[in-house]
Amino acid sequence: MIFEGLNEKFQNIFSQLKRKGKLNEKDIQAASREIKLALLEADVNFKVVKQFTKNISERAIGQEVMNSLTPGQQFIKIVNDEMTTLLGGEIERMDFIDGRRNVYMMVGLQGAGKTTTAGKVANLLRKEKKFKPLLVACDVYRPAAIKQLEILGEELNIDVYSEHDIKDPVGIAKRGLKKAEDGHYDLVIFDTAGRLQIDEALMEELVKIKETILPTEILLTVDAMTGQESVNVANEFNRLLDITGVILTKLDGDTRGGAALSITFTTGKSIKYIGTGEKLADIELFYPDRMASRILGMGDVLSFIDKAQSMMDEESSRKLEEKIRNQEFDLNDFLEQIKQIESMGSMNSLLEMIPGASKKALKNVDLSGADTKRTEAIILSMTGEERHKPGIINASRRKRIASGSGTKVADVNRLLKGFEQSRKMMKQMSNPNLAKKGRMKLP
Ligand code: GDP
Repeated sequence: MIFEGLNEKFQNIFSQLKRKGKLNEKDIQAASREIKLALLEADVNFKVVKQFTKNISERAIGQEVMNSLTPGQQFIKIVNDEMTTLLGGEIERMDFIDGRRNVYMMVGLQGAGKTTTAGKVANLLRKEKKFKPLLVACDVYRPAAIKQLEILGEELNIDVYSEHDIKDPVGIAKRGLKKAEDGHYDLVIFDTAGRLQIDEALMEELVKIKETILPTEILLTVDAMTGQESVNVANEFNRLLDITGVILTKLDGDTRGGAALSITFTTGKSIKYIGTGEKLADIELFYPDRMASRILGMGDVLSFIDKAQSMMDEESSRKLEEKIRNQEFDLNDFLEQIKQIESMGSMNSLLEMIPGASKKALKNVDLSGADTKRTEAIILSMTGEERHKPGIINASRRKRIASGSGTKVADVNRLLKGFEQSRKMMKQMSNPNLAKKGRMKLP
């Protein structure tokens, strides 16, 4: 789980502070010391830690906290503010240029996730910005890289420009750009070669490609699992290529978070996207304020809602809304909803966005998708009439459905109960006054 260690430590530090009524200088110093230790343990760069805790202590020891009526809360707010600033402060969106082709160059070490992320970004921007993307395969050294990009393109139905048996990445880049111009692609993403370590020949080649394609964005893909090392890598790439932003991948892994918290401070370049899993939907725009809340254990409901909404097209959203309003939502719709939630990406990364959803609290939740399979089997064992009017499913029908789907009557009962609860909740949400209050769009 992303930042789990940090998350728990911050929660502990905060709960100690909240228990105390008033805070004196000593309390604040003690809390700052604990924060310092937690960050160092999370592999955050020591310069970053020093500056961060200095800022917090200065603000907290001043008027802001000690004279406040709720000093604990005030302290948390300061930590949250400073964490947001550390992660880049105001959101810096990708610099989309209207009327000009957007040319992205993906750079990074081998295995960082460049190729996968090139596909993820193309897919996301096609959906959100209606771009017509082209992927260009310039990694001629890693044997499988070109094939990998081609397969990704096929899977996503995105065009790929590649040349086989030609070891001239600059030439390929040039011809790729020409293809983009001729084919009126307005987003071209160049996947370039990586090495296990930075070396001169690689950098020279990247500089040449940069001079050839004149990218509007140079995005450095960095593996978050590599911690401190990723900061050195980022500094070097930035020095030689003057990158425009960073994409942090594998934040779903067992990362301590050091990379995310150090990279913007040390390079001065913002994190633009984060990769949160191997699936192609596992990419998110990076919001410093939301990430700060996640690290501090306050959850990230806004990202959750964004993701849920982005998965549903307007047409099906409208149809569903109508069904709920007319109270026609049945078990077929229920099954469709569950499947959509599953396709939103790994459930793990979604659940982490919910406030207070620590790993401990989630240990009873089945994240493997087995639940979906069981639900599907049960619903498919019902007759059309039963699916449409679940009210008629009596004891003997439940028994038949259970044996038909290879489950137990208790499973059928649980599903029907879950369905009833969702239906009730949806009915409440379809009440326009309530829906407005919760600021949520249906469903
Ligand atoms: P490249 O050498 O930089 O092009 O790296 P690849 O795109 O081939 O990725 C290397 C491996 O990392 C692949 O197995 C990817 O599936 C995996 N990967 C990439 N991004 C993520 C991510 O955000 N989370 C996880 N868990 N795996 C990722």
